[in-house]
Amino acid sequence: MTKQLELAERLSRISEPQTIKMAKLSRELKAQGIDIVDLSIGEPDFDTPVHIREAAKKAIDEGFTHYTPVAGYADLRQAVVKKLQRDNGLEYTSEQIIVSTGAKQSIANTVLSVINPGDEVIIPTPYWVTYSELVKLCQGEVVFVPCSIENKYKITPAQLEAAITPKTKLFMFSSPCNPTGSVYSKEELKALADVFARYPGIYIMADEIYEYINYVGKHESIAQFEGMQERTIIINGLSKGFAMTGWRLGYLAAPKAVAKAAENIQSQFTSATCSITQRAAVTALTGDLSTAHTMVAEFRERRRLVYDLLRVIPGLKLIEPDGAFYMFPDVSAFFGKSFEGEVINNADDLCMYLLHKANVSLVTGSAFEQPDCIRMSYAASREKLQEGIRRLAKGLGQLV
Ligand code: PMP
Repeated sequence: MTKQLELAERLSRISEPQTIKMAKLSRELKAQGIDIVDLSIGEPDFDTPVHIREAAKKAIDEGFTHYTPVAGYADLRQAVVKKLQRDNGLEYTSEQIIVSTGAKQSIANTVLSVINPGDEVIIPTPYWVTYSELVKLCQGEVVFVPCSIENKYKITPAQLEAAITPKTKLFMFSSPCNPTGSVYSKEELKALADVFARYPGIYIMADEIYEYINYVGKHESIAQFEGMQERTIIINGLSKGFAMTGWRLGYLAAPKAVAKAAENIQSQFTSATCSITQRAAVTALTGDLSTAHTMVAEFRERRRLVYDLLRVIPGLKLIEPDGAFYMFPDVSAFFGKSFEGEVINNADDLCMYLLHKANVSLVTGSAFEQPDCIRMSYAASREKLQEGIRRLAKGLGQLV
């Protein structure tokens, strides 16, 4: 028999992120001339600060247009070392820093570096969609630990310990968290570190991409506790804090063996990220942070605005987020209701209903393993947010 053309089996293990799916759907509706308020996107609506853009222009003129070292320019890795000292009080050497094409690639490098088929990976939920898909690509086993709204969607030490087995290899989490906006305090991280201290064979991936977007105080890293830096992979990048999503620059800070492995893997995938972006990144990391602070101040105002508007909508249950730029209300009170005979069974149905009938684009919580919720990004102008929430309230009010 003739051999048929077939894609790789691994494709059947992963799905397209709902976040990207919703953004695509909104774009299609907009292209048809429908006025959609899109609150599904996870990126700052600000322009990259001028001094960073100038650094990129200068880099082009000065001829930084060639391949760079796989792990990034030496002075950029040094700038990351200094940033970790300045912001986090952590001491690293340059060889522990691997610069990549976005935090997403750093996460991929991490999973590819440590996960063998059958290894278990603990992920507290709600969580950011990509983590589990990368684990599945590597044939690891995802162990979800559902976290409750009562604990602000954060994992407790007891929950963590109960999920650990001899096969546990990696723990993956973000703080500030996408999608919940929750931030782990120093005490909470210390309590988790105390559990890990009893299980030395587990790596921790701490995704700190929203570090600067924190409304409750100083960012804390789990790597600061005794014995943790030797087993923690810190993920960070420029996308959120410097409004540089399109530039594609992330990095990891890791124990030497993991950093070396990540560099090897990356050398086969992308070589390195863009030379021009890397020059701009040196300026971003070593330069004036006041533009980042101004952006966060605006997010803080919007958080207040959006929280005050949402909490008075009957049926929504929500916590005030401590970081990032998302609201994550529980919408389960609307399940079983209907509009013109069409029943809303879950958050997926609700998002589709709100998109098509109220013309506001949000993301279903099932994308983040919390099917009672929907995610609203407030990285949009105040006018857009007010209009989006007006549409949301009207749409919800029409359900009977
Ligand atoms: N981690 C989290 C928690 C995120 O929300 C995102 C972006 N949505 C990323 C990582 C990826 O960021 P980057 O643009 O640097 O790849």
